[in-house]
Amino acid sequence: SHPWTEEVYAKLQRVFKLGSFRNNQLNAINSTLSGKDVFVLMPTGGGKSLCYQLPAIVKSGKTHGTTIVISPLVSLMQDQVDHLLELNIKATNLNSRLNEKQKRSVFELLVNGDLDLLYISPEMVQASKKFQTVLGSLYRTKNLARVVVDEAHCVSGWGHDFRPDYKQLDYFKNNFPDIPVMALTATANKYVISDIITNLRLNKTDITLLRQSFNRTNLFYQIVPKATKAAALIDTIKDYITTYFPSQTGIIYCHSKKSCEELAEALGKFRISSSAYHAGMSGNERIRVQKAWQMNSIQVICATVAFGMGIDKPDVRFVMHYTIPRSLESYYQETGRAGRDGKYSYCITFYSFKDVRKLQKMIQIDKSLNKEGKTVHLNKLQQVMTYCENQFECRRNQILNYFDEQFDAAFCYKNCDNCVKKLLDVDGDNGDEIQEQD
Ligand code: ADP
Ligand code: MG
Ligand code: ZN
Repeated sequence: SHPWTEEVYAKLQRVFKLGSFRNNQLNAINSTLSGKDVFVLMPTGGGKSLCYQLPAIVKSGKTHGTTIVISPLVSLMQDQVDHLLELNIKATNLNSRLNEKQKRSVFELLVNGDLDLLYISPEMVQASKKFQTVLGSLYRTKNLARVVVDEAHCVSGWGHDFRPDYKQLDYFKNNFPDIPVMALTATANKYVISDIITNLRLNKTDITLLRQSFNRTNLFYQIVPKATKAAALIDTIKDYITTYFPSQTGIIYCHSKKSCEELAEALGKFRISSSAYHAGMSGNERIRVQKAWQMNSIQVICATVAFGMGIDKPDVRFVMHYTIPRSLESYYQETGRAGRDGKYSYCITFYSFKDVRKLQKMIQIDKSLNKEGKTVHLNKLQQVMTYCENQFECRRNQILNYFDEQFDAAFCYKNCDNCVKKLLDVDGDNGDEIQEQD
């Protein structure tokens, strides 16, 4: 136990309204409150934000004052700040989109110690001399608690998302060597990790390295060829649910509001209680559906990707994809909502090449994407297609390799469709040999 243990648990419950910590969160929090550098590798959706948002409001740590968070995307920053403000945590952000007056008011808050967290884009660290001056004075008055580098893989040329501005972030250790730094990411192989530690000049001899495997051992992964006719597909889904998951909770991810609604209605006709969930519904309606599902009065949610953020139902026994997701990251995150309680659960994806074409077209006409963005999204979709069409390699192996994790398929323990098939294939081969001898 540490001097701050009581405060940490009190704030988890009273401020963040959460019941318990997830894997590695408390380790990260204790290390940073002890003044150590921390590296956190945790899957997307694993809960990285809490690792620095909670210590930012703890008063009894070794260092205290403001936590500076470097984050690459302005939209992401704004979401986080809005969430924090809802929890009555003093936070704001500083980026190049603000005008001079807005920037001045941020600096004023910062100087006066009125901020628990300041989110800042990496280019602002270098571009704003004013920021550097204010930061220096916070440091001298012992009001700089820690520096957080979110999406830290952007530091590394080995990573898939290198940002030159991230290279300059050694600024913090160069100027404030005794201020703890926390680096977090969801994707890093050993080269990326070593790059991050070197480039940010983290304390190599006394760093807390928190890595967790992305392997979700209790999930069964399966790809099923998708019937062309909607009626046949719905029949298959109905059979799955009534045979394998009678009265058990599940999510079915669909691509459009329309298919959510049609599927929910069709399942209802088979007396499977289900409801649609998508961004076209009112806020109140969505909350009502989510609550009913969480209390088990709705069995199946037919949802778009709008459903997910902040959902933490432990006993989801199946996640189906009515249409393939657009990236393996989304696949991992969406299937990952199954089996949070550690019990055996199923991830079933209905795959057809026609859906790939449909999604490709949607990306090509998406006005919010420039040419580069389209290429990135098309490549990600391609990887989903490769994954679905691969009928030989262990699913776990494919997923974990995608996240740069080494994995030996023997440790899948026949927990995916392809590993189960291998068992059967061996028998099939033997049969062939006997025929040849005849
Ligand atoms: P990441 O940055 O790792 O992708 P986030 O920090 O955005 O993940 O968290 C993902 C979701 O998990 C959020 O909805 C968050 O509220 C939830 N979450 C985080 N920690 C906990 C916890 N200890 N208990 C329950 N939910 C949590
Ligand atoms: Mg995050
Ligand atoms: Zn396998």
